[in-house]
Amino acid sequence: MQPFSYEKVTNEHDALERARLANATFVAGGTTLLDLMKLNVEVPAALVDINGLPLNQIEDQPDGAIRIGALVRNSDLANDSRIQSRYRVLSQAICAGASAQLRNMATTGGNLMQRTRCYYFRDPVYPCNKRQPGAGCAAIDGYNRIHAILGVSDNCIATHPSDMAVALVALDALVHIRGSNGERVVPITDFHLLPGDTPDRETVVRPGELITYVTLPNRPFGRHSAYVKLRDRASYEFALASAAVALQLEGGTIQGVRVALGGVATKPWRALEAEQVLTGSTANHGTFRKAADAALTGAVPRRYNAYKIELAKRAIVRALTDALPQDL
Ligand SMILES: Cc1cc2nc3c(=O)[nH]c(=O)nc-3n(C[C@H](O)[C@H](O)[C@H](O)COP(=O)(O)OP(=O)(O)OC[C@H]3O[C@@H](n4cnc5c(N)ncnc54)[C@H](O)[C@@H]3O)c2cc1C
Ligand code: SF4
Repeated sequence: MQPFSYEKVTNEHDALERARLANATFVAGGTTLLDLMKLNVEVPAALVDINGLPLNQIEDQPDGAIRIGALVRNSDLANDSRIQSRYRVLSQAICAGASAQLRNMATTGGNLMQRTRCYYFRDPVYPCNKRQPGAGCAAIDGYNRIHAILGVSDNCIATHPSDMAVALVALDALVHIRGSNGERVVPITDFHLLPGDTPDRETVVRPGELITYVTLPNRPFGRHSAYVKLRDRASYEFALASAAVALQLEGGTIQGVRVALGGVATKPWRALEAEQVLTGSTANHGTFRKAADAALTGAVPRRYNAYKIELAKRAIVRALTDALPQDL
C-alpha cells in the first residue's frame, strides 16, 4: 500500500502545484472517483480536493455566451432559469442522469471526466485494456449488451456514460483547461478521445491539468432542443441509447441542426451524417427517420448489442419530434 495524502486547496495555482508535486488526482464531488478507489480500479497517490476553488458560478458573458464553472453542481446547472429557457437540452440531459442526491454532489468538470461503466473495467478480475494497457478486452467476446457500436476499436468498445456531455456536443460547448503552461480552450467534440490503440487515454486533459470552465456559445439552436434517454429502467440508470438535438427552424424548414448520441458510442458522439440529411430539409417524420438511418450507417454491432442500432434511431426521431415548437 503506497502512502496516501489528502489536501484541500482554495486557489488554482495551489491546485496545479500540488497536483504536479504529489502526482495527485483532483477530487470534486467524489461520486465517481471514490467508487473507483473502493473497487481498486483507481489508486491515486494523493488527492487534491478542489471544492474550495471559486469555480461554482454560472455567468453571462458580454457576447451572449454562458460560462459554467467546473465546480457548478449538476443540479444547480439543470435548475438555472437561463439554462432551462435557452439550453433546454442540457437541463433535460442532466435531470435524466443519476439521482437527485448524486446530482447535488456531481460537478460539471467531474461529469466530463467520469469513466466508463463497462462492468469488466470496474472489476479488476477481468482483462481490460483501458484499466491495464495491453491486457486484452473482456467485452469484445463477452457479454457486451451495454457496449458501444460507434467509434469502437479492436481494443475497446466501452461507451462513454455521461448524459450531460451529449447535450454539450449538441450545443457546441467549449471546455477550458488550465495547466502549468496556461489555459487552452477545446471544443467539446475534441475533448473526449476515441479508444483506438490507447483506450486508457480518454480525454485531452493531461495529468495535473484542471478543467476550469465550460462555455456555451450564443448559438441559435438551443431553444428548440430536446434530450431523449432510453434505458432499462426509468431512473437511476445509464443510457442504452440517447439523443440530444438542437434545431434552428425557419417555418417548417431546418436551417441548422445538431444531433448528438449517448449510450451507443465510445465518446459523446456528434452525428454529422444525420445533420447533413436534416439541414435544408422540411421538419417531418420522414426526414427524421432518414437522418436517423444515416446516423447509424457506421455502426459495428457485436453479439449482444445489435438492438442498439434501432434503439438509437428511435431516440433520434423522438428527440427531433420533441424539439419542434408546438405550433409547427
Ligand atoms: C449510482 C450512480 C448513477 C449514475 N448515473 C448517471 C447517469 O445516469 N448519467 C450520467 O451522466 N452520470 C451518472 N452518474 C455519474 C455521475 O454523473 C458522475 O459520478 C459525476 O458527474 C462525477 O462528478 P464528480 O464531481 O462527483 O466527480 P469526481 O468523482 O470528484 O471526479 C471524477 C473524475 O474527474 C476528475 N475531475 C473532477 N473535477 C475535475 C476538474 N475540474 N478538472 C480535472 N479533473 C477533474 C477527478 O480527478 C476524477 O478523475 C452516476 C453515478 C453514480 C454513482
Ligand atoms: S470494453 Fe474497454 S473498458 Fe470494457 S473491458 Fe474492453 S477495454 Fe476494458
